[in-house]
Amino acid sequence: MNFSLSPEQHEIKDRASEFAEGNVAPHAADLDREGRVPFGTLEKMADVGFMGLCVPEEYGGAGADFLSYCLLIEEISRADAGVGVTLAVHTSAGTLPIVMFGTEEQKARWVPPLARGERIGCFALTEPETGSDASAIQARAERVDGGYRISGHKQWVTNGRVAGTMILFARAPEGVTAFVLGMDAEGISFGKHAEKMGVISATTDDVHFDNVFVPEEERLGEEGRGLRVALGTLDAGRIGIAAQATGIAEAAFRYATQYAAGRTTFGKPIAEHQAIAFKLADMQTRIRAARLLVYEAAWMKDRGERHAESGARAKLYASQVANEVAYEAIQVLGGRGYMKDHPVERYYRDARVTEIYEGTSEIQRLVISRAIMKEQAEAPGGIEQSRSIVG
Ligand SMILES: Cc1cc2nc3c(=O)[nH]c(=O)nc-3n(C[C@H](O)[C@H](O)[C@H](O)COP(=O)(O)OP(=O)(O)OC[C@H]3O[C@@H](n4cnc5c(N)ncnc54)[C@H](O)[C@@H]3O)c2cc1C
Repeated sequence: MNFSLSPEQHEIKDRASEFAEGNVAPHAADLDREGRVPFGTLEKMADVGFMGLCVPEEYGGAGADFLSYCLLIEEISRADAGVGVTLAVHTSAGTLPIVMFGTEEQKARWVPPLARGERIGCFALTEPETGSDASAIQARAERVDGGYRISGHKQWVTNGRVAGTMILFARAPEGVTAFVLGMDAEGISFGKHAEKMGVISATTDDVHFDNVFVPEEERLGEEGRGLRVALGTLDAGRIGIAAQATGIAEAAFRYATQYAAGRTTFGKPIAEHQAIAFKLADMQTRIRAARLLVYEAAWMKDRGERHAESGARAKLYASQVANEVAYEAIQVLGGRGYMKDHPVERYYRDARVTEIYEGTSEIQRLVISRAIMKEQAEAPGGIEQSRSIVG
């Protein structure tokens, strides 16, 4: 077993960290207050190859592995989780489904502008009436000459109004189907811009489709096989959200540690009061455990292994850690932790959504528990053993 990153992965982590410190962190508080998408930062990320980091070089990306992408997402999210999710959705939900499920023509046409950051990607699955149960979507894709006409309403599309390309799911005659389309298609309009609790520098929008024509050749995968595209995309995307959560937790931990070393009560730094020192010990331990789960899931994906359960475990645990660590960081700062003069209240707000998007914690537990029971049922003598224990 080898716990070290490769030289290339180290280099990406260092570059991402330096970029985040220099270009992302300085604006995070202002963006959070003003609710602005940082287009300048996204352009700079495109210039240094971060918008297509794990996209194969033949489609305009940097060709790095998925673990490197997770290192990038952790570092960017440590500085600003809103920029982190903008990048994560653009890459894993807006670009990689085309790489994974697209035809050669689709890859050649859609992926290079996304990988170069000339277009931003988005992913539209959720609707007002359905989120966790993706099989219940109501957007309709009616078959017409040469393609489909799509009508419906998608809710909370990250990057929606700033995106150039969308992965869209709608119900066609054969069932839920995936499509790739440009956001300039006639019949697309934007509804409500969501006013959120956190990740405020990312835009989250309602998108309406009124008879939008999508040619047959822009269907992603077979008609009726869209859930495979959606779930395959989310299996990988969740690892990125787990990395985002780890980044938020790391930011909260570092800030709380610095504060605890500087703040004095009863004649000594609060870090020397055992109650605070033990909090820091617990925070760091949990973050490292979360990071290992992220690395394990990314490593499995990079090896071409099944990663649905390892990604679910990483997301379930890392998002819980982000929430706990941000909560404790506020406690370490006392009243100052509650004030906007310090970033920990932002980390606390940003952490919350990591337990919700790309599959709630309950859905991650469903994925994990189903795999546990499948494994038990398939183990040699597993069922007999279970019956004999029960008696
Ligand atoms: C900021 C933000 C950005 C988002 N960005 C995107 C995006 O870019 N694209 C996109 O398509 N969607 C996006 N979403 C939607 C997100 O993925 C959904 O909110 C999420 O999947 C949950 O769906 P829901 O909100 O409809 O909750 P529901 O599905 O209504 O669930 C409500 C509650 O019931 C629980 N629950 C549901 N089913 C079960 C079950 N079988 N067993 C146990 N518990 C269950 C859930 O865990 C949850 O606690 C975003 C959401 C947010 C908040």
